[in-house]
Amino acid sequence: AFLLSDLSIHSIFCCCCAVQTRYSLGVICAYVSLSLFQADRSRRKLPLPPPEDDDEGEGSLGVVAMYDFTAKEDTDLTLKQGEEYIILHKQDQLWWRDVTPGTKTKSHTTDSHCIVNKIITFSLFFLFVCENSLGGDIRHYQIKKTDTGQFFLAEKYTFSSIPDVIHYHEHNAAGLVTRLRYAVGPMGRCVPATSGFSSEKWEINPCELTFMKELGSGQFGLVKLGKWRAQQKVAIKAIREGAMCEEDFIEEAKVMMRLCHPKLVQLYGVCLQQRPLLIVAEFMENGCLLNFLRQRGRSLRDAWLLSMCQDVCEGMEYLETHSFIHRDLAARNCLVSEHNVVKVSDFGMTRYVLDNQYTSSSGAKFPVKWSPPEVLHYSRYSSKSDVWSFGVVMWEIYSDGRTPFENRSNLEVVNDITRGIRLYRPYRASHSLYSIMYSCWHEKPQGRPPFSELLADIRKLAENPD
Ligand code: ADP
Repeated sequence: AFLLSDLSIHSIFCCCCAVQTRYSLGVICAYVSLSLFQADRSRRKLPLPPPEDDDEGEGSLGVVAMYDFTAKEDTDLTLKQGEEYIILHKQDQLWWRDVTPGTKTKSHTTDSHCIVNKIITFSLFFLFVCENSLGGDIRHYQIKKTDTGQFFLAEKYTFSSIPDVIHYHEHNAAGLVTRLRYAVGPMGRCVPATSGFSSEKWEINPCELTFMKELGSGQFGLVKLGKWRAQQKVAIKAIREGAMCEEDFIEEAKVMMRLCHPKLVQLYGVCLQQRPLLIVAEFMENGCLLNFLRQRGRSLRDAWLLSMCQDVCEGMEYLETHSFIHRDLAARNCLVSEHNVVKVSDFGMTRYVLDNQYTSSSGAKFPVKWSPPEVLHYSRYSSKSDVWSFGVVMWEIYSDGRTPFENRSNLEVVNDITRGIRLYRPYRASHSLYSIMYSCWHEKPQGRPPFSELLADIRKLAENPD
């Protein structure tokens, strides 16, 4: 089923999470969606609906719910997948307030004003799968808009609406690898990461958590799989005593929780009242990207590797636009979802590590092989130092998770990098792909492209592989 309507489309982009979910079906799908989610649980008195044309200008933004949501508390509004709603007031980046069903009339008088959590917006993508197995040849295409407001997939065939584009390509491949044969239904299995958590409560009640099994351990301590409110799977990190500068982290956690993107591992909240401190985050079924690459990298097709690079780049572009620096981007700090979507994790967390071996550039645990010269010599971090690390992550992806500069010590690598030596081209990387990763390793930060540019290059390559 296509979820299409005459809504004003704010942004159209390749949506991540379902792309990889459907590879085994051997399908071609088209998808337009807008996700709209569940109400805040805080029982605040709701403000009066804003006047029309208030300064946020949301007025009557029409949306379609991508998932069912059953109201659990008085302030919730039950949402039905596929039904239309009007947003009367946008609260902030992640939340909508005052939502009313239906699009025909713009009413402020309905009882159902409530606060609604929204997850991103309109996304639209096409997925092509030519084989049924993991590593099948997947292509996704972005629907674009001309200057005159016409929509198209193939530049030569433009249409006044998205349904027209889809209708046309159902019958004609016209530049695509195949015509659109049938649509995949809504993303029922791919519920958004913020599902189940409210906009203002960032402190989680530990009584609402149950622990299931150990997932791994890291710099801060043990990570366990658990459930929140006996329903939602979550990853729970128990912070080992003395491992973290907790006070600073707690302050920053409020900011980090508001970072919300399908290619970032969502931080849900923290349990502050007891020790160990618990950090609750989105659970990622397939664990860390590095292990995933080591175990399954060789069986993955090239298009798949590229789409993993794109995932990481999308997450990083979001951080870049929010001026948030990761500081430790590496395959070991990315996680893989049930549907094999790669998401960036642990962003900004190195700032709270209490371990000199990890934080000092001469320390044994410092990520020297992922760091640019200005970080190695002057600890100068920026989005451009993240870009350098991203180039190394691309290298890891195309090298089945090998360690960069495998047989060199950290000290030798610092010398090599300073003398202009760079990682070689992995045999699976094409020359165009290698030139993208190589551009990340410009000696000077200003000589490296921003993530937005890298993303455009990767998308271009996905559309026209060598
Ligand atoms: P730290 O931040 O303490 O260094 P990590 O984030 O590296 O810890 O986590 C250690 C391991 O726990 C990871 O390698 C991974 O296997 C597992 N893990 C961590 N977070 C998650 C998550 N959100 N979902 C699934 N597994 C996770």
